[in-house]
Amino acid sequence: MRMVAGYEPAGGPSAEHVRGSRCRAGAGSGEGMRARLRRTLLLRPADAEVSPYLMVPFEVPPGTGRIEISYRYPGQLVPGSPAVIDLGLVDHRGAAFGDFPGFRGWSGSSRRSAVVTARSATPGYLPGPLLAGTWQVILGLARVPELGVEVEVAVDTAEEEGPPPHRPPPPPSAPRDRGRAWYAGDLHSHSHHSDAPGTLAQLVSAARRRGLDFLAVTEHNTLSHLPYLRACPEDLLLVPGEEVTNRFGHMTVLGVRELADFRWRTPEELEDVVQRVHRSGALAVAAHPAAPQMEWGPGFEAAVDAVEVWHGPSRERNLAVRAAWARELNLGRRLVGLGGSDCHCGRNTEDLGHPTTWVLADHLTVEGVLEGLRQGRVAVGSAGAPRPELSVERDGQRWEIGDCVPPGPPVRVRCSPGARLWTALGVHPAGAALDLERHRYVWAELPEEQGGGFTNPIRAL
Ligand SMILES: [Zn+2]
Ligand SMILES: [Zn+2]
Repeated sequence: MRMVAGYEPAGGPSAEHVRGSRCRAGAGSGEGMRARLRRTLLLRPADAEVSPYLMVPFEVPPGTGRIEISYRYPGQLVPGSPAVIDLGLVDHRGAAFGDFPGFRGWSGSSRRSAVVTARSATPGYLPGPLLAGTWQVILGLARVPELGVEVEVAVDTAEEEGPPPHRPPPPPSAPRDRGRAWYAGDLHSHSHHSDAPGTLAQLVSAARRRGLDFLAVTEHNTLSHLPYLRACPEDLLLVPGEEVTNRFGHMTVLGVRELADFRWRTPEELEDVVQRVHRSGALAVAAHPAAPQMEWGPGFEAAVDAVEVWHGPSRERNLAVRAAWARELNLGRRLVGLGGSDCHCGRNTEDLGHPTTWVLADHLTVEGVLEGLRQGRVAVGSAGAPRPELSVERDGQRWEIGDCVPPGPPVRVRCSPGARLWTALGVHPAGAALDLERHRYVWAELPEEQGGGFTNPIRAL
């Protein structure tokens, strides 16, 4: 990935686009405050072609206790604005692609400013030591109008830590575990740690009202919510997630432990990101593949583990995704189909849990849910509706969704009433007996009158 090194008028590829650039280091605006940077940048579409992420470096002196970054541009926070510029922060460890060692936060285009101290930070940003050196503001050039956009960037540092920009996380706790069971949850949600107005506490309350057993919180391009998720209430498991978001598509990472780099641009870089996700034990999911302007560009050949076959807001577009998923199953791919509401708390909180994704897990733990997902022990259905069911039997033996059936005589299929059965050889009514070796797999689809929904397949070994 190419990085534009800086905006000093004398150097850097975009130097000709810098106007009125000035730096007033030391010109303090108050007791203990030191204004470190004031910059006005004229950004043009050509800049976004060079790199969609422009780095604006600034110096952090020893003894810094607080850093505030802010920016302004015409049309900021206005829905439908022709200019959309994102904001992020990188510390002295730098922005190398892949492990992104200096990542300190991202707020997309949803905030005008952010504060980082040793102990707390604006949601979306990571607290921690503020070590001296060259830090960088990242400007994400999400949408740049033809005539360009003038962006003012400011950085202020102070020796004092000052008032905490956000409350510290509560002490960790664990939810009650019912052992091996089907657990109901939602695998896609957002709070104010990215672009939703509602807090994590409000999101958690909504999930408990819905009666969900687990909720994945998948903030855009940040992990600032992770310390807060460890304080699960006893009736809800919170699964750490990230929605890796850029103009080539969105990918949720379930069970995330380290930041999955959202700046991938090529298939090779995406592969690198997904390999890192897998090495850390997390799962990669192609999110809302058919959502307008947020389509999943790389296709299902990219090494994702699962696809969001039912994305709440995508409605009838999900039919095309389901057909594409069915084609992948026909090709013999083990691609898990799951669902997500993409609830943005405070905006469409009522959608949380619709659709509901059920996972057969050995325990109500992050590991348990991830393993159930990995094995394809998954069914997706309408909020409040019964779980779509499917099992097969032969000679007193029974196999569940996600299982592989060894060769033998035909199996008896049990499924939700009214469901249709899909196999490699076509569609069959409920109650059919199937020669699984010929049909290769079977999964159940619920009719729309029953709220829709589907199971993942049971396969021939
Ligand atoms: Zn998305
Ligand atoms: Zn989302």
